[in-house]
Amino acid sequence: MTKSLPLSQRAQRTEEQPISYFIREAFENPRLISLAAGLVDAESLPTEEVRTVAESIFADPASARAAMQYGATQGYAPLRAKILDHVLALDSVHAKDLNLSADDVVVTTGSQQLLYLVGEVLIDPGDIVITEAPSYFVYQGALASFGARTLQIPMDDEGMQTDALEELLVQLERTGELARVKMIYTVDYFQNPTGLTLSLPRRRHLMELVRRFSKKQRIMILEDAAYRELRFDGPDVPSIKSLDPQNEYVILGMTFSKPFAPGLKTGYGVMPPELRESLLRFKGNHDFGSSNLNQHILDRMMSTGAYQRQGDRLRQVYRAKRDAMLAALAAEFPPISGVTWTKPDGGLYVWWSAPRDMQTGFGSPLIQAGLDEGVLYIPGELCYEKTPDVPTHEARLCFGVATPAQIGEAIRRLARAARAVGLPRLGMKAFAGCRG
Ligand code: PMP
Repeated sequence: MTKSLPLSQRAQRTEEQPISYFIREAFENPRLISLAAGLVDAESLPTEEVRTVAESIFADPASARAAMQYGATQGYAPLRAKILDHVLALDSVHAKDLNLSADDVVVTTGSQQLLYLVGEVLIDPGDIVITEAPSYFVYQGALASFGARTLQIPMDDEGMQTDALEELLVQLERTGELARVKMIYTVDYFQNPTGLTLSLPRRRHLMELVRRFSKKQRIMILEDAAYRELRFDGPDVPSIKSLDPQNEYVILGMTFSKPFAPGLKTGYGVMPPELRESLLRFKGNHDFGSSNLNQHILDRMMSTGAYQRQGDRLRQVYRAKRDAMLAALAAEFPPISGVTWTKPDGGLYVWWSAPRDMQTGFGSPLIQAGLDEGVLYIPGELCYEKTPDVPTHEARLCFGVATPAQIGEAIRRLARAARAVGLPRLGMKAFAGCRG
């Protein structure tokens, strides 16, 4: 008889990421236009630029050997220095303003590894993490693995509602649970999944709250700014990190995946020294250093200006895709339909809300009708903690992968699917007023 495998408690808490389902569907159904996968635009990937830089590295035996050797656990020092300059330049500040040096930068295998390592450093089972509702579902899975109790704060057009956060913290203090609150996780630029950005007054309020409620111990903010560099419109907003002058409360996570190329799978964090020391011990356990070759490539990209040029190019490409999605949504879902959606100034996602009684989840008539029409989205409910009042009528639409023409077609298919399962049609008086 086969004996049972004694999986660790952490393994038992770890569920398959739902994204596997979406990737499978996309492969099995070639007619499908997937607005589900959060991949990036394929055409604009910087293949030529990376080839040129890789050739220049390999043309010189000494630089080739340096790049092909193991690197340091914390990351390639010249790259860390450039990352720090880059992050500071985004906020127009100097290292001394934020008590930072290149020692505070850690290069990771994608920003996903940074998020995971921060979880390992801070979270014991039963600890509380506060996130936005909805939130980045892949990290929700990781937090569940750690045994975190995740509490979610609603959002509006200005991002996380920090007044609601304040109420929650007051309540946790009253019930004696404040000491269990380890961190607040926010995707504060063009959030995955909603496309919403945290406003400056809310950023200030958030900082004020962590200072006020860090009584016996610090409550950390994990600022996941993965999409910051993909802004197409409007003025930039300062990072939360730039509001933390002593480098005490904020761990900033960023990535080369979105503004450059995910295939290099390189991200980074900027964080307080005590946290960094512990995080590096865990990184030693994981891999004692991310791909050295990729870091050498990125280092050259940053010094030649190719990194900046690629960002400029991507912003054009994604602006056109975002515009295609918003135009198609406006054409297909008139106000009478009761459908609403966010209008992000950057990033890769639009958050689509059907009338409350139209389910969007797995097994719902809408997702099935969408698959029959040949369109797929991420059901919004995946982005919430499993509580009884989870909204079940929303969807994440990614405009990163499909072409503008495909995006238009995908939205038309979504509209046909929605009408097939009962959404009011433009001008059909019989439906007028029956949905809010
Ligand atoms: N944070 C957010 C909000 C993301 O959407 C992603 C990727 N989808 C990541 C982090 C991780 O990306 P990577 O590991 O490629 O940097």
